[in-house]
Amino acid sequence: MVAFECDRCGKCCVSLGSLITIERQLNDRDYYCRCKIDNSVFLGHVDPAYCEEIADEFDAETAAHSIQEKKTCRFLRKNRQGEGTLCAVYSTRPKICRDFRCYRMLIRNHEGSVCGKVIGKNTLRTEDAALENLWKEQVIVIPYGDTAAWTEKVVGILSEHDYHADTVE
Ligand code: SF4
Ligand code: SF4
Repeated sequence: MVAFECDRCGKCCVSLGSLITIERQLNDRDYYCRCKIDNSVFLGHVDPAYCEEIADEFDAETAAHSIQEKKTCRFLRKNRQGEGTLCAVYSTRPKICRDFRCYRMLIRNHEGSVCGKVIGKNTLRTEDAALENLWKEQVIVIPYGDTAAWTEKVVGILSEHDYHADTVE
């Protein structure tokens, strides 16, 4: 088993705007928020680099009496220090975000490099053509019912072909 590593790509945040909402602004950095997926509340403490833009946006919406429902989570922001995006409340993000695993198995090749990820039940994401073929020919056909039995079988098949698979914690 390996620890899940989130690379903060933000892909899972782009559709959560209607589900992670601000109920009340407490001060320039803190927001009383709700996660509608599990109906929990959390205190969103905004990274200082993003508190002004988030506060300005929220103030403008409040003044206009139109807190807008966004497609993307409002805490997902363009990374100012580098490429891509980041979560502006990362250290205080809701439990659902902390617990989310976008893949459940990691596959490495004989050199130890990550060459595939298993998403959902048995969907493989890979750029390794040989692994993709192996998956289509021998893994997809395995009935999915008992997760532990499926995992054991798949790990065995991959191992016979010089791949190493680890489930994610
Ligand atoms: S959980 Fe996955 S999809 Fe979401 S930000 Fe992390 S790496 Fe990206
Ligand atoms: S709170 Fe952060 S991790 Fe959660 S959906 Fe919003 S941007 Fe993504």
